[in-house]
Amino acid sequence: SCDLMIPVYTMQYKICVKRKLTQILFTSVIMKKKYKELTMRLLVVEDEQSLREDITKKLQHSGYEVDACGDGETASEYLAVEYYDLVLLDLNLPKIDGMTLLRNFRKENQETPVLILSARSEINDKVEGLDSGANDYLSKPFHLAELEARIRSLTRRQFIQRDVCLQCGKITYDTKSRIATVDGVAINLTRKETGVLEYLMLHQGRPVSQEELIEHVWDSSVDSFSNSIRVHISALRKKLRAVLGYDPIRNRIGEGYEIEGESK
Ligand code: CA
Repeated sequence: SCDLMIPVYTMQYKICVKRKLTQILFTSVIMKKKYKELTMRLLVVEDEQSLREDITKKLQHSGYEVDACGDGETASEYLAVEYYDLVLLDLNLPKIDGMTLLRNFRKENQETPVLILSARSEINDKVEGLDSGANDYLSKPFHLAELEARIRSLTRRQFIQRDVCLQCGKITYDTKSRIATVDGVAINLTRKETGVLEYLMLHQGRPVSQEELIEHVWDSSVDSFSNSIRVHISALRKKLRAVLGYDPIRNRIGEGYEIEGESK
């Protein structure tokens, strides 16, 4: 006779295997979920190769999943097929320029935050960028640490710049006309005060340091001294307090200034 070597599994063995499999499966689902929650997917569109590689390396090192490309056409192909949590976009790009790419992207996608990285630091470019649907603007050259701070703030807020009016409590700021209003009444601000208010309102939710204000609001050649900044901020606060009844600008010791919509 031939004894076939058929393995005999007892019911208990089967249950044990099933439990083990369920455990493995369950753990992997949880891990996958956690991994998904933790990993943000970013697209870097930058034609300057060394900068693109530096940004990519740094962000990958920080745990982001990063796709990168060097022209607008490739970028639009990426955007058509992949979901990104954030797009870092240079403006001067071969094939399709950044602004056109952004406008086209916003027609399809209103949610993904876009951070413009550009050497063009003129306010008109910033406004045009924001007008076209960018969420923030970082002028080159920048520190990678600053870039990361912006990314964190943007992915946290996920706010959408649907129009060019910024809002903070009762203050409305029109980035096109560069006029701030409270209850529809314009506040009479100088050019510097306007610049400070605009920058603070663009970066709500985090303190802005004096160094950052010097870099972004002040003309680099003239009166870039912290004393002068203090004078302008103090004047701005006085004017805001007069119309709001409270001072919306907070001093964050060691960090800088932050604008808030609510009185304390
Ligand atoms: Ca470029």
